[in-house]
Amino acid sequence: MSEQPSEPTRLSAKQHGVTRKRIDPNALDVTDHLTDAGFQALLVGGCVRDLLLGVQPKDFDVATSATPEEVRRLFRRSRLVGRRFRIAHVRYGRDIIEVSTFRKSQSSEAHDERLHDASGLILRDNVYGSLHEDAFRRDFTVNALYYDPVSGEVLDFVGGLKDLAANQLRFIGEPRVRIREDPVRILRAVRFQAKLGFSLDPAIVAEFPQTAPLLAAIPSARLFDEVLKLFMSGYAAKAWELLAPSPLCAALFPVTPPEANLVQLTMANTDARIAENKPVTPGFLIAVLLWEDYLARTAMYAVTSRPAEARALAASEAVSMQQQVTSIPRRFSHFARDVWSLQGRLETRLARSVSRVYQHVRFRAAYDFLVFRAASDHAPEIAEAAAWWTTYQECDPEEREAMVDARRSTQPKRKRRRRRRSKSSGN
Ligand code: ATP
Ligand code: MG
Repeated sequence: MSEQPSEPTRLSAKQHGVTRKRIDPNALDVTDHLTDAGFQALLVGGCVRDLLLGVQPKDFDVATSATPEEVRRLFRRSRLVGRRFRIAHVRYGRDIIEVSTFRKSQSSEAHDERLHDASGLILRDNVYGSLHEDAFRRDFTVNALYYDPVSGEVLDFVGGLKDLAANQLRFIGEPRVRIREDPVRILRAVRFQAKLGFSLDPAIVAEFPQTAPLLAAIPSARLFDEVLKLFMSGYAAKAWELLAPSPLCAALFPVTPPEANLVQLTMANTDARIAENKPVTPGFLIAVLLWEDYLARTAMYAVTSRPAEARALAASEAVSMQQQVTSIPRRFSHFARDVWSLQGRLETRLARSVSRVYQHVRFRAAYDFLVFRAASDHAPEIAEAAAWWTTYQECDPEEREAMVDARRSTQPKRKRRRRRRSKSSGN
């Protein structure tokens, strides 16, 4: 890897055409303050890449020569976050600007046990460096471009502009080494491929099989965050299409059948909802990813346990299988369990429970889930139930009453539970 300080390629504002108007004023406020205090401060990473591609960046990250503590002292509304990778968050209302200190690439440190484990995984990443070094420690060339707000220039130390023009994702340095340092980078490769429509360096694709087992060493909370970024950013369908046939899929989702129609449908629908600014929840995604496994376990336990018990056992196990890889915050696993347990009730539509099911907080999600199942399973009885609930929601209360009555006549009467009369009771 060439790391001799060399002059970066510079593009003037006139050459790259990005105007300051397209940049978050809060990010510019941060860089202004830092430069006034005598530090170097530039925009970096995804925001510069996206600006050059003509895409509106979702957030603006700042890189600076100031240490996190110096940033903390300079901005009243700031706090330090992260241990492995310490950065400052500067708050502007609901907007947060991430400010990271220039860091060195750890591959340049002759193998240092304090920083790497035996497999090459980076344990700590808080060795500060120069702007030039900061460029080389980043993952992809197109993610290592800087925008200097003072001169208006874009700076390229690693050939990122050339790769950007060629729609190419390439690691800075040896793919194998960079992936060993941090295997999550391979998921980032898939994510940027999906988001940007870039092609992956074949040397990266060649690393998929060897990288899959390395994900086991990554903290489950970090993998959950990465999964959210893959599927909740508006390009989930593409991300799943890339992931499903790869060995990374089983490593990330050990109990999800990669070819599941339901998953594909949901990913596409998630993208559509995001495009329409409709809310999306990871709970729904969890419900979809673990559905097949939940069903199989329910059937297995139903042999020996009562149905409700079988469902509860199956739900706990399906969730815990996934939790061995990615954490699942409790609110999302509860969401999934509610959606699953409502499926049977939505299908049977027992007259006496229709209105209770309809008033359940998760009714809407469970109904959506049923509709996706109907579309993906090609099962006429599920399609019939989904259509029934569609009509039910569109009806006025009287018509609903009639729908329920019609069902009542087809359903067996509830068996009277025999109550043991206590002889001593007065009635
Ligand atoms: P987006 O915000 O569009 O998802 P991004 O490129 O900004 O993409 P972030 O996760 O916000 O991605 O990271 C910001 C920058 O930090 C990246 O562009 C990259 O330069 C660097 N970076 C992030 N994660 C890593 C990593 N695991 N290894 C090396 N560099 C990284
Ligand atoms: Mg970013």
